[in-house]
Amino acid sequence: MRNVDLRSDTVTRPTRAMRRAMAEAEVGDDVFGEDPTINRLEEMAAERMGKEAALFVVSGTMANLVSLLVHCGRGDEVILGNRSHTFLYEQGGCAGLGGIHPRTLPNNPDGTLDLHDIEAAIRPDNIHFPRTRLIVLENTHNRCGGNPLGPGYMNKVGEIARRNRVRVHVDGARIFNAAVSLCVDASELVSQADSVSFCLSKGLAAPVGSLVCGDADFIQEARRARKLVGGGMRQAGILAAASIVALTEMVDRLAEDHENARALAEGLAGIGSLSVDPDGTRTNMVYITIRDERISSYDLAERLRVKGVLLLPTGPYELRAVTHYHITAGDVDHAASVIRNEISNA
Ligand SMILES: *Cc1c(COP(=O)(O)O)cnc(C)c1O
Repeated sequence: MRNVDLRSDTVTRPTRAMRRAMAEAEVGDDVFGEDPTINRLEEMAAERMGKEAALFVVSGTMANLVSLLVHCGRGDEVILGNRSHTFLYEQGGCAGLGGIHPRTLPNNPDGTLDLHDIEAAIRPDNIHFPRTRLIVLENTHNRCGGNPLGPGYMNKVGEIARRNRVRVHVDGARIFNAAVSLCVDASELVSQADSVSFCLSKGLAAPVGSLVCGDADFIQEARRARKLVGGGMRQAGILAAASIVALTEMVDRLAEDHENARALAEGLAGIGSLSVDPDGTRTNMVYITIRDERISSYDLAERLRVKGVLLLPTGPYELRAVTHYHITAGDVDHAASVIRNEISNA
């Protein structure tokens, strides 16, 4: 049976080049700053993002947590979207571990936060209020269709932040998907941000790892925070070696994933009881809404799984499909026809 796993781009396995690089990686004790491969990856990442320095961490969740812990103290407030990954899917770690107060604003369907809402949410100095320290933007925006946020918008938020002496962190788990989709350099998307995190273990297919980038002082503090949460690694150059391959060889090909996602959205758009937006499919994510209340996403996902097509239910009537390195144009056609069959048999 043909297996098409569209649940997430995190299911990608390391390439042959990555495995070779891992086997041959030069390593040292990274807590002592002595792993040459990690040091090289951190330099590369900083340069790609146009920042002074970078820090290798185990996951996107840790990258965001460490960033928030550095930007905000206990009782400080962070402004973030109500559909953001940091708010929804990171166990509320900023509050649970950092005592940081989340202030959510409604995400627009394209993943942006309204500029007036941001401005209005920044607290004046008043004994009743927490202090607003940080704005978090997500790019691409996972729960908002994987939409990329352009440099114009990113810069406007940066300007509001600077005017109000508030910082900006970008959760750029898929920032390279945004950059490739918009045909800009990733650094252009974060030039006004104080920090950015991005994942190597998603569309870039590395087995483990994320980076946090920012100025040298920020990264020094982030290194302390990483140790605090138990994320100090030793000979992790083995992982960094795969990440270097991911950064050098796997970015440009993301365009292929975007084409396949668009083709999938188009293939599903004709199915009566589904609602899919091909024009809103600008990176590697396709969100599918079921318009027939007799069909639940969980039942549909289970029936598709039996046929070898794996989707992720993201709500009672919503599923997500994500294209990635192991998904071909043929897989996408096959998945669309399996889905069409299941829906017509429902
Ligand atoms: C996946 C993801 C994260 C977290 O990354 P993990 O490596 O799974 O911890 C953070 N933000 C966004 C937008 C993501 O999609």
